[in-house]
Amino acid sequence: MTRTAIVTGAARGIGAATAIRLAADGHAVAVLDLDASSCADTVATIEGAGGRAFAVGADVADAEGVQAAVDLVTARLGAPTILVNNAGIIRDNLLFKMTEDDWDSVLSVHLRGAFLMSRAVQKHQVEAGWGRIVNLSSTSALGNRGQANYSAAKAGMQGLTKTLAFELGRYGVTANAIAPGFIVTDMTRATAERIGVGFDDFVAHAAKEIPVGRAGEPTDIAAAASFFVSEEAGFVSGQVLYVAGGPTS
Ligand code: NAP
Repeated sequence: MTRTAIVTGAARGIGAATAIRLAADGHAVAVLDLDASSCADTVATIEGAGGRAFAVGADVADAEGVQAAVDLVTARLGAPTILVNNAGIIRDNLLFKMTEDDWDSVLSVHLRGAFLMSRAVQKHQVEAGWGRIVNLSSTSALGNRGQANYSAAKAGMQGLTKTLAFELGRYGVTANAIAPGFIVTDMTRATAERIGVGFDDFVAHAAKEIPVGRAGEPTDIAAAASFFVSEEAGFVSGQVLYVAGGPTS
C-alpha cells in the first residue's frame, strides 16, 4: 500500500538512502532537510526511478517550522503516516572542552527534533489508525569517548522510541529505533577530518574492528528502515536494532 513518508535529514547520507529506498518501496516521500534546495539530488534520484518525492526545508528543532513543514507535506503528498527521524549533527569534544552550545545543539537536533516531528506527525497517524516511526539512534548510545552530547542524545532516542511505542500502539502506530555502527557518510568523513586522519585510512581501520569485515553503507540502514515501516512489521514495536556489522559488545 502507498503511504506518505517523511524522512528528515534526507539531503544526503543515511537519510537520502532511506528516502530513495522508501520511494522504491512505493511510498510518496517528503525529503526534508534544513534547506529544500539541498534535497534536489535525492528528489531527482527518486523521480528518475519513477517515484514520487517532494523537497521540504525545515529545521527539525524549530516547532513552528516543523508544523509548517508537516502541513505542507500533507497538502502536497497527503497525510504522512511514516516518519523517519534521521536528521543529526555531531559536535564532538572531550567533556572538559565541550561547550554548552556543543551540548545544546546536539541534544536539540536529535532529541527535540524527533520529539517535535513525532508530535506533529502522530496526529495524522492516529487519524489513519496506522503509522510507523523510525528513530536513528547509534552504537554511541552505549557510550563513546568525545561524544558526551551525542551519546546522551542517542540513548535518549531509545527511551523516546519505547515511550512512543507504549503511547501510540493502540492506534496502530509502531515506533522502533535503528542504531547504526560505522557508516560511510559525510558525518564519519567529518570525524576523520577532525582527528586528522585520511578518510580511506579511517574507514579501513574501522572495518578491521567490524565482524563482517567492512564499514556500513547508507543502504544498510535504509534496508532496516524499509522493514520497520512495512505493513508486515506491525507486531514489532519499541525495539532497537543495532545495524553495525556485528554484535555491539
Ligand atoms: P549526514 O551525512 O551528516 O546527514 C545528516 C543530514 O541531517 C544533513 O543533510 C543535515 O543537513 C541534516 N540536518 C542537520 N541538522 C538538521 C536540522 N536541524 N533539521 C533538518 N535537517 C538537519 O549524517 P549521516 O551520517 O547520514 O547520519 C544520519 C543519522 O544517522 C544521524 O542521526 C546520525 O546521528 C545517525 N548515525 C550515523 C552514523 C554514521 O556512521 N554515519 C552512525 C550512527 C548513527 P546539513 O547538511 O544542511 O547540515
